[in-house]
Amino acid sequence: MLRSVFRCLGTNPVVGRRSMSQSSLAGKVAIVTASTDGIGLAAAQALGKRGAHVVVSSRRQANVDKAVALLQSHSIQVTGTTCNVGKAEDREKLLQTTLDQCGGVDILVSNAAVNPFFGNIMESTQDVWDKILSVNVTSAFLMTKLVVPHMVKRGGGNVVFVSSVAGYQPMQVSQSACIRIDARWRPALKDAASPSLQALSPYSVSKTALLGLTRALAPELAQDNIRVNCVAPGVIKTRFSSALWGNEDIVDEFKKQLSIKRIGEPEEVGGVIAFLCSEEASYITGETVTVTGGIGCRL
Ligand code: NAP
Repeated sequence: MLRSVFRCLGTNPVVGRRSMSQSSLAGKVAIVTASTDGIGLAAAQALGKRGAHVVVSSRRQANVDKAVALLQSHSIQVTGTTCNVGKAEDREKLLQTTLDQCGGVDILVSNAAVNPFFGNIMESTQDVWDKILSVNVTSAFLMTKLVVPHMVKRGGGNVVFVSSVAGYQPMQVSQSACIRIDARWRPALKDAASPSLQALSPYSVSKTALLGLTRALAPELAQDNIRVNCVAPGVIKTRFSSALWGNEDIVDEFKKQLSIKRIGEPEEVGGVIAFLCSEEASYITGETVTVTGGIGCRL
């Protein structure tokens, strides 16, 4: 009976069993930073559904509690703690909590990022650059440096950085599209003569740096059986990008670049992250997978 079911499905039981175990993350421990909302939470959910014990964190305890409750309601093994990735003591606490409660770490998804500035690159200040590069790039590296020795103890692991389509192509938003925009973007409108705005400039540069970090770390960590990959989402419906998808004019303009004519969902990125951490991706390292609905991404 079972054999005929598998025949109907065009598979056989042995192949089916193999692919299931390759996608499984049972017994693995995964730290996902900034994981109480959006893409981080979706990544935690995707990793947890594949059997990993996930460690979720963000700056606010209330958000951590909510995420833990949500993941537990999906029968996912989860530990929660607060962590602002920009603070060394918080990064160390995140690792220590993971080691104490889960006994080790196999996966790091470095997802946290900030963008305190919208506007032309020449109007950005050193404070803005320091903040963006420190949280988005330096903290991603320092978190990796903390966890790698513990991955080595387990015989290997996976690191996934979360970059952005903006890392390939700094986002430009026209003045006309900006007219009804969120107050956060208004300073960028100052220069009325400018036909377009590089609205996410220093942030874009930080996301380009993550593409480079992925390429640079992958060969170095391959000898320890650690794969290093990256995802570059397009516009995904989260709070972080609400200034974009909440504005119809920007969405219309943006859709012209898309093959799939809609904004992405966090789960569509979370699944790709879980895939990269699984045995199904065992021969992939140093790569960035773009999850953009078809925007051409090229440096
Ligand atoms: P989101 O839905 O707004 O979620 C942000 C999460 O980060 C929250 O859990 C927040 O919780 C936490 N967080 C913020 N600052 C933090 C910090 N310093 N340390 C630790 N946690 C922090 O954001 P998202 O859209 O999913 O963005 C996640 C990643 O995807 C970012 O790297 C972003 O650059 C990238 N990305 C997003 C898009 C998009 O369209 N959404 C596109 C490309 C790339 P607390 O407030 O409690 O800290």
